[in-house]
Amino acid sequence: MSVDIDLSGRVALVTGAGRGIGREIALALAAAGADVAINDFADEPACAAVVGEIIGLGRTSICVMGDVGDDEAVNGMVERVESELGPLAVVVNNAGITRDQVVMMMDPADFDAVIRTHLRGTFLVSKAAARKMFRRREGCIVNISSVVGRRGNAGQANYAAAKAGIIGLTKSLAKELGARGVRVNAIAPGYIDTPMTQSLPDEVKKAIVEATPLRGIGQPGDVAAAVLFLASPLAKFITGCVLPVDGGLGI
Ligand code: NAD
Repeated sequence: MSVDIDLSGRVALVTGAGRGIGREIALALAAAGADVAINDFADEPACAAVVGEIIGLGRTSICVMGDVGDDEAVNGMVERVESELGPLAVVVNNAGITRDQVVMMMDPADFDAVIRTHLRGTFLVSKAAARKMFRRREGCIVNISSVVGRRGNAGQANYAAAKAGIIGLTKSLAKELGARGVRVNAIAPGYIDTPMTQSLPDEVKKAIVEATPLRGIGQPGDVAAAVLFLASPLAKFITGCVLPVDGGLGI
């Protein structure tokens, strides 16, 4: 059995890929041979730089700017990817934001914004892609959830609810699409070193490391490696799973 992951000829779309985990996922998919569309709603020059890196790897790449929570933008994005790169084989729903606050102090607008980006965004992008994949009887969707979607977290009820919702969405879609050969899985990262987490106070970071059995902080490449596995033929009999990439934090 060969364990090389070869995604040559595959087209992938990664949301929120201008930086952090999404950027690393996009580069890993390209390094495995895929042509990759980069979505984000901010920092177009950063997205163009990721596109440039992928082209430097000898692959094709385009930047599709847009808000994953906006259905017209999402439909346009998926159409553009298919017309410019080809049939979508891999979709990674990674775009995300945080608006942390305890529930008693939380502005409903911050609740809505987090649910909109993570849960509605994952729903809209998955729906647009699934309509294409379903007809072709082939495809793979990977949704980025979180350890807090499995366990909850004080001060992050909006984020934890959105990430738990992504798990329910993943399992439901896996059941809807399995008979058509489309696989849908989620990854639940623990604490990963990215711009989203770099602003956490040092004592919070220390407490997370101490609560993590492997006693460390994850890197974006750790999540990208799990995406590569789930997107590859190695995972051809895996759907509806929630794969922790958390050093054991979620145990
Ligand atoms: P990040 O903030 O570094 O990157 C997120 C990207 O998503 C940004 O480039 C941002 O512009 C983009 N984005 C936000 N809203 C968007 C929208 N509406 N449409 C399109 N793009 C949008 O964050 P990250 O740490 O790389 O996180 C990536 C994913 O991993 C998120 O879903 C996050 O919730 C999840 N996650 C992160 C960690 C961690 O510790 N960093 C842990 C668990 C899960």
